[in-house]
Amino acid sequence: MILRRLFIFTFSFLVLISCSSDLPEITTVTGGIPLKKMGKTLVHEHLLVDFIGADSTGYHRWNKDEVIEKVLPYLIEIKKLNYKTLVDCTPAYLGRDVELLKTLSEKSGVQIITNTGYYSAYNGKFLPQHAFTETAQEIAARWIDEAKNGIEGTSVYPGFIKISVERAPLQDINRKIVEAACITHLETGLTIMSHTGPAEPAFEQLEILQQYGIDPSAFIWTHASDERDINQLLKAAKMGAFISWDKFKPEDAERYVEFFLFMKKHAVLHTLLFSHDAGWYKPGEPDGGDFRGFTDIENYLIPALENAGVAQYDIFQVFFKNPVEAFRIKKRLINEEE
Ligand SMILES: [Zn+2]
Repeated sequence: MILRRLFIFTFSFLVLISCSSDLPEITTVTGGIPLKKMGKTLVHEHLLVDFIGADSTGYHRWNKDEVIEKVLPYLIEIKKLNYKTLVDCTPAYLGRDVELLKTLSEKSGVQIITNTGYYSAYNGKFLPQHAFTETAQEIAARWIDEAKNGIEGTSVYPGFIKISVERAPLQDINRKIVEAACITHLETGLTIMSHTGPAEPAFEQLEILQQYGIDPSAFIWTHASDERDINQLLKAAKMGAFISWDKFKPEDAERYVEFFLFMKKHAVLHTLLFSHDAGWYKPGEPDGGDFRGFTDIENYLIPALENAGVAQYDIFQVFFKNPVEAFRIKKRLINEEE
């Protein structure tokens, strides 16, 4: 335990040195921060999700004070476990409420990152009407406007692009959303996080990125643990895409540890992201329904990795360094050195 603490201290110091730039390169709901301030991060969680659909959702669906009362203790809980940042992956029309996120961040001291973008899976249930009629450029213009001028008149800016696609093959509407994300990335340098699942739509999306001249490292393959062929995951990792295993539950510990070791063995650990996809307050349910906290990784996965002999340095790679690389604001173009 003491050794682990000493290591954490030394490692944090090294990260501070390696991320020496003070430029705000990560965008949280309370403003830009330098890379070195991101710290230990949960890359895929949700504080509130409203599944009622784009035609019926809105701020009338929840009471901010009630949500804060319910959700705040879960943020304080991870703050005590030394988590500095939580990435909230709820997009617009699925319950994104950036003022709520800002208040929760200020009250808890946990940095929260929100997003721009649309969720095109489930036959467009979570898409606003204009997403069906506008071109990719027109949709992208809305997202770029959020990135440049703030979200819905607030002073909150998105820290990444959240999209989603159907499982396979990509339909026209999915393709358009991915193209809008590419256009937005080229303009803003925001990373594209795509709710994807299996390999087939992942590679279809990477192909679209390529058509736009965007490097795979601008892409987070979300819910990649749904793909059972680890060689497909390895192929995407070798291309440079981030591989997000983000649905951790205690019973998955062995599988996550095995995958960690596999990625390490193939020298692609720098592309691996782990998270819970947990939370979340559910409008319409009494007291927001059952809320799943964000501590299973700390309580089950980290000890399992340690028991498997994984070095602290490698554990910190996944929870500390990789989130910085994944969410730093940076245009990632093919064949271009930074
Ligand atoms: Zn999610």
